[in-house]
Amino acid sequence: MPLIAVLPGDGIGPEVTEQARRVLDTLNLELTYEEAPVGGAAYYSDGHPLPERTLDVARRADALLFGAVGDPRCDALERQFRPEQAILGLRKELELFANLRPARLFPGLEDASALKPEVAGAIDMVIVRELNGDVYFGEKGFRKTAAGRREGYDVMSYDEDEVARIARVGFETAKVRSGKLCSVDKANVLETSQLWRDVVIEVSAEFPEVELTHMYVDNAAMQLVRNPGQFDVIVTGNLFGDILSDQASMCAGSIGMLPSAALNGSGKGLYEPIHGSAPDIAGQGKANPCATILSAAMLLRHSLGIEEAADRIEAAVTAALVSGARTPDLGGTLTTSEMGDAVLKALG
Ligand code: NAD
Repeated sequence: MPLIAVLPGDGIGPEVTEQARRVLDTLNLELTYEEAPVGGAAYYSDGHPLPERTLDVARRADALLFGAVGDPRCDALERQFRPEQAILGLRKELELFANLRPARLFPGLEDASALKPEVAGAIDMVIVRELNGDVYFGEKGFRKTAAGRREGYDVMSYDEDEVARIARVGFETAKVRSGKLCSVDKANVLETSQLWRDVVIEVSAEFPEVELTHMYVDNAAMQLVRNPGQFDVIVTGNLFGDILSDQASMCAGSIGMLPSAALNGSGKGLYEPIHGSAPDIAGQGKANPCATILSAAMLLRHSLGIEEAADRIEAAVTAALVSGARTPDLGGTLTTSEMGDAVLKALG
């Protein structure tokens, strides 16, 4: 029986994770769950944001359902004890290198997008972002220039194997969608990007059924707001993906609607809403649980291969929204658990 590690975390994390658990339980799938503390909650219970007992569950699990971490009471702690370190630790420990971020405008939410409704309505894409390399992990530091001025530096690099493995995730993702993959880089000025482009082209030979295009990142940022409907799957590096995926998510409406996955090479993944712990609304029943419910659907699809149940969850969220169910972030009045009720009702 597959084991799911449930890591609710801080703030609204436990509230939204509870609703995702209710949805999973209703489907009567043969799953087992083990819950463990993470983030600020774990710091206060175990003295560390990613305690050994949580790592142990994470290592044994087939997939992780993660709420959110972040607690203002921890802001003054040394960096290693801050809640956010837990997510970095899990990515490293489990070698989660591929971040999948679907951005889709659900029916009826056109007005929630930062874009004009007729433009926003066409958004239905997945951004595949590399998570373990790039300028975030290169040599970095401060030094003095020859003229004695202060200088900061961060080295950007990718090796060909890192590019090839994320490219394959991009092609695989495109293969089961519309068969179109857009690789985003800055090959006109960056050597790292030139290698990226060369390797993506080489890997494309393994996927003749996928149509590959390339776009410079500055143009991609512009096209995302001008004509987002042209994109289906985007594959890109850590830095460009960080920025573009946040941009795409706001084009698609509320942050409370968007799920994500971070996968390793053997199908194991950490599934979480893209939002944080939202301390401003924590404990008030105002959080939208849909992003976490949709993350649970991604978990079933990508780590457990239970496609049909994943489709059912996504259809139920859509049906609940079509029926008018809305939490305050979507302009409605439902509480977190009432939104969960609406999804359960739509599940039938
Ligand atoms: P946030 O995503 O927590 O909140 C941003 C805004 O969106 C807030 O106004 C919040 O109320 C709202 N919001 C977020 N999720 C919502 C939901 N499901 N329903 C309705 N409204 C929602 O971002 P922030 O305020 O910048 O960060 C708060 C804490 O979360 C910080 O400690 C940050 O480090 C952490 N964080 C954690 C993760 C993670 O766990 N992966 C991601 C981002 C931020």
